Amino acid sequence: MKKLLVVGAGFSGAVLARELVGLNDVQVLVIERRAHVAGSCHTSRDDETGVMVHRYGAHIFHTSDVEVWDYVRRFSEFFPFVNRPKASIASGVYSFPINLHTINQFFGMKLDPTEAARFIARKGEAIAEPRNFEEQALKFVGRELYEAFFKGYTQKQWGCDPRELPASILTRLPVRCNYNDNYYDSIYQGIPVDGYTALVERILDHQGIDVKLDTPWEDDMRDEFEHVFVTGPLDAHYAHRFGRLSYRTVYWDRAVHCGDFQGHPAINYTDMSVPHTRVREHKHYAPWESHDKTVVFTEFSKETSTHDEPYYPKRLARDREILRDYAALAEREHKVSFLGRLGTYRYLDMHQVIREGLDFARLWSAAAAAGGRRPVFPESFRI
Ligand code: UDP
Repeated sequence: MKKLLVVGAGFSGAVLARELVGLNDVQVLVIERRAHVAGSCHTSRDDETGVMVHRYGAHIFHTSDVEVWDYVRRFSEFFPFVNRPKASIASGVYSFPINLHTINQFFGMKLDPTEAARFIARKGEAIAEPRNFEEQALKFVGRELYEAFFKGYTQKQWGCDPRELPASILTRLPVRCNYNDNYYDSIYQGIPVDGYTALVERILDHQGIDVKLDTPWEDDMRDEFEHVFVTGPLDAHYAHRFGRLSYRTVYWDRAVHCGDFQGHPAINYTDMSVPHTRVREHKHYAPWESHDKTVVFTEFSKETSTHDEPYYPKRLARDREILRDYAALAEREHKVSFLGRLGTYRYLDMHQVIREGLDFARLWSAAAAAGGRRPVFPESFRI
């Protein structure tokens, strides 16, 4: 029986491994450098409070892709959860993402949706083709809302001027002229009842899959396997030979309090005068549980150095040049494929990574069955 290796036990690696054993007569080994599965979606209970903590930052599952939604629910029950963060600035706490409530609060008005749409259109600056995050925001909402809710947060989060960042980052956020404060436009949204790690463990629980934790990739492993699927960082896989792709990382201050600390799962601090980006109170991500104490994480962002976890791909112009070199090198390989947020250096959400895992397993299996060239990157990979 053929042996395949998957490097990384996050959503990408787990879904891929599971689908590969379903579609081929193969045995899959999944190796994971960390001591747990689920990658940066890892959840475990806080010892002191019993609260389920999202160890690398809170994750809210959302998708409009019914196959992905059905897929994750095969492995876990999901409870409904709608992401409605708040934004805190000097003048108060506002509804967020920007919606009619925010506009009326911020400008001290009582506009209806039609009036608000006209008002925001007048505020928006006449920029025909926004070339960066700032121009996109100015076109979208005008200077006052941009400076209150986007500029400082973005500068803190990415560590650079918003004019250096692609406009696409802003398109993650809706701006609405009604009272809908749901962060996502997705049809389905929720959180797995017993956490993401239990979910990923169940995806990997198959007789055709072996999982080895605390096991980093080493070059000589490739000889034992028919094919290697890498879901870890693309540049690290090649020992950074063309340089490092830049990532932002985040870190947290943890504090325990009694009762309810901030009355909400997530409050963003969008002002530059506050050093952190957001405060997350994890027990509010599981409102179906009850805990006397509460554990709170204040989140800070910084540049990634050698020993930090890479979370947010920056994809600045220089990064894309380096990425081109790595991608060309990868394309010359015969036995290696790259997948997921780190493997393809793209700012992907969980549902997108799962979609690509499902599609890639099918693509690779069809190529293997036909004896053709195996795909190296997912079809939607772009530099
Ligand atoms: N953003 C912002 N203000 C906020 C929240 C987000 O300006 O209060 C911008 C910021 O540039 C951020 C981007 O929107 O990096 C995407 O935010 P999202 O919440 O999607 O980031 P994630 O949840 O992945 O950390």
